[in-house]
Amino acid sequence: MLAIAALLAIAAALTSVPAPRHALADDLHSAVRTVARDQALAAVSGEPALRTTHFLIKYPTGDRADAAIVQSQVEKAYSFVFSRMGGRPADPVVVRVETRAALAADLAVPPDQDPLGAYWRGVIWLLTPSAYLPGTPAQRQAAFAAVGPVAHELTHLADDNLTDGRMPPFLDEGMAQYMQWRFSGYLWLQPDNTFCQTLYSWNQLSAGFDALPNQALAYHESFAVVQAVENSSPAAAGRMLAAIAGGASPLAAVRDAVGAREAAALAAGSAWSCAH
Ligand SMILES: [Zn+2]
Repeated sequence: MLAIAALLAIAAALTSVPAPRHALADDLHSAVRTVARDQALAAVSGEPALRTTHFLIKYPTGDRADAAIVQSQVEKAYSFVFSRMGGRPADPVVVRVETRAALAADLAVPPDQDPLGAYWRGVIWLLTPSAYLPGTPAQRQAAFAAVGPVAHELTHLADDNLTDGRMPPFLDEGMAQYMQWRFSGYLWLQPDNTFCQTLYSWNQLSAGFDALPNQALAYHESFAVVQAVENSSPAAAGRMLAAIAGGASPLAAVRDAVGAREAAALAAGSAWSCAH
């Protein structure tokens, strides 16, 4: 009950600042991410940190209760995501817990977005839970687990690792939402979402996902495609990622799993009707 109430209170879209958009040569991709991680750590060298087996969690001084909420989830999400997907990263995974203002400044978040988290070049940013979840620390911890933002961002990390940065934004967000949904049961759906329009086409989603005006619809269509891939066979998502890593087009990679039925997969997004 608490979790549902908390989720309804969330006005933020679970969109992320775009993951790397350009495929780099594998070695260069790895080197760029190492530098980015060092920079992300250097920028908060004076801040306190929490450690877990696989994570280094940096947080603003005085915000330990929220950092502990994040700490309570990271290893569970790590086991869930990487045991299913592979693409396990080198330790430690750096997580930066930030205030809303710091997150916006760090990641140049557009003014019309209010992300709960972001993935950028191997590093995960999370909005501090008290910025959007009400209640006591225990209540916030339960609500944070019910949303599952760590699983979402770790999926972006797995996608990045498995495709050396070649994952298209459209499928990247579909995978992240799908894994988050499997982890926590949470699917981004807000009272002001509207789906009363013609579905976006495959070309629209592939060519300009981040710029589509109805982001809620674009995200739900991307989720529908990945769900169709996942439903086709247990190994299909892995094959899709391997094909993209090998340079296949997103359409070819998805068709490998669902046949030439990607349009039907998109149409599954129409399950979110005007009546919602
Ligand atoms: Zn995302």
